[in-house]
Amino acid sequence: ARASLLNRVLARSYATAASPHALVFLEHRQGDLDSASLSALTAASQLGGQVTGLVVGSPEEVPSVVEKAKKLNGLTTLLHSASPQYSTLLPETVSPLLEKLLSQNSPFTHVVSAHSSSAKSILPRVAAKLDVPAVSDITSLEHDAASGSTTFTRPIYAGNAISTVRASSSIPIKFFTVRSTAFAAAGAGDAVESEVKALDSVEVSDAPTEHISTSLTKSDRPDLGVASRVVSGGRALKNAETFQSTLYPLADALGAAVGASRAAVDAGYADNSLQVGQTGKVVAPELYMALGISGAIQHLAGMKDSKLIVAVNKDPDAPIFQVADVGLVADLFEVVPEMVEKLKQ
Ligand code: FAD
Repeated sequence: ARASLLNRVLARSYATAASPHALVFLEHRQGDLDSASLSALTAASQLGGQVTGLVVGSPEEVPSVVEKAKKLNGLTTLLHSASPQYSTLLPETVSPLLEKLLSQNSPFTHVVSAHSSSAKSILPRVAAKLDVPAVSDITSLEHDAASGSTTFTRPIYAGNAISTVRASSSIPIKFFTVRSTAFAAAGAGDAVESEVKALDSVEVSDAPTEHISTSLTKSDRPDLGVASRVVSGGRALKNAETFQSTLYPLADALGAAVGASRAAVDAGYADNSLQVGQTGKVVAPELYMALGISGAIQHLAGMKDSKLIVAVNKDPDAPIFQVADVGLVADLFEVVPEMVEKLKQ
């Protein structure tokens, strides 16, 4: 069955190698499209062909998300599938839907998503079932329409090297996930509406996993992943109390999200949802302030693409100053309250 599936996929894609058609997996939360998925849509549009969106979710969520998604710039068609089993995006329940969609003489040459925790589990699983590779966390792409190959770049070794990967024309469907900070979010407009089609869900009765619960960290501050300004604190902040009393007034004065180094998270100063770096979030805001953070490569991996980096550190040799645009050698407990006062004025 797998061989015949692959043959069908191969036969179809050789016929369409010159005209890419991307399927973008559009994730959403509480009725709104995730901004990382909008970046994935921008990346898909750069392939230079048609782009179809796919919205999967519970029957309660899907209709309102479809209303928003069909107005997205760059989408030609919008597919959606609703089922109670899709209320959480478990790879075991969602991937059979994608497999079916990609194996029924579908026109897709690329499958694209944000590099999100759900999609990171779903896309490689489907790719493996179809016996094709998946390229993850790409930061740029170029599609050669003549040969049908697509070339990607992706950071490796915590962002210290960039690897260039070519998915050749012999790969019938090219799967890739997108680093959202490398692509602007696609916008929406009322001028064009994509064609909307409903897909039957593929019910999975014997899923080996079950979603028990989700604990979301609630905050009134801007979301770290998409904020245009981020104020981050490190081990120097001493404890959770001083972390809050020192950093939060500055973040509030700037309308910024709060971030933290892993040392600060591990020491319990900040929630781990705030960790920036290789094993935390990757951010690229307009302004990133690193306060009492030494600038280990694993931290830099998560913030060095920020547009303006401001660092405050007591140690003039701290590595953070090598990436900082503005550096202040000072005790943060003296200068941060001063900055807050000045901003308030
Ligand atoms: P430190 O390195 O201890 O730096 C504290 C800094 O504060 C020093 O530079 C000091 O001069 C300065 N300072 C002290 N007092 C003051 C003061 N009063 N005023 C001003 N400056 C002051 N780290 C991450 O951040 N994110 C990750 O995702 C991550 N992933 C990792 C993954 C792996 C596999 C490994 C091995 C490590 C990872 N790390 C990560 C840890 C990383 O290597 C560093 O240990 C960590 O980033 C250090 O945090 P820090 O800069 O807050 O602490």
